[in-house]
Amino acid sequence: MKAQQLQVYGGELIDLWRCSNCKQLWPQPDMAERCCVCEGCGKTKASREAGSRRCSECFTVHLLEIDRKQLEEATELTNYTGPVCIGDKYWESLEKMLDGLDPNEVPDFVHTCDINHYNLDVGTIIEELHEQAGLEDSQSLGGIAELAAAVDKFNETNADVVWWSLDHSTKVSTRINKAGIGGVS
Ligand SMILES: [Zn+2]
Ligand SMILES: [Zn+2]
Repeated sequence: MKAQQLQVYGGELIDLWRCSNCKQLWPQPDMAERCCVCEGCGKTKASREAGSRRCSECFTVHLLEIDRKQLEEATELTNYTGPVCIGDKYWESLEKMLDGLDPNEVPDFVHTCDINHYNLDVGTIIEELHEQAGLEDSQSLGGIAELAAAVDKFNETNADVVWWSLDHSTKVSTRINKAGIGGVS
């Protein structure tokens, strides 16, 4: 990309360079030159991609590459029955994933997921309030026992509500499980 140095009225040059593609300003000419050039393929990025280092195609390839590496290094679990994940898609189980995907789309391995609960903690809530206010922990607030009771009730009510997050460290084979050896029951 061409870097255009700015000048103030009267012709004096100032230390700001503009990317000729998206018009963003940079403090160094080489930064303006690199601004809209994709780090992956070297092509000029579309203006909607200006904020990222790669064009959207290279970004997708990059994510797949990270995912492939992580899967390669992950420890294989052989009798896992919990939720699984590919990229940003999650399934309740490997079986559900195999049902929902075209067999050609199924990779050899998929990531396993952690199962998380919505669990509030009164201590953390109060600590955050103190932090926001810039106060010491010793600052006394009233109504904490009542809040604790309400939080307990909230946690109890939502005990069965879960959310999944990808666990990068473990994986499960889709082939073993497809063949029924791996313990998906
Ligand atoms: Zn730019
Ligand atoms: Zn690219």
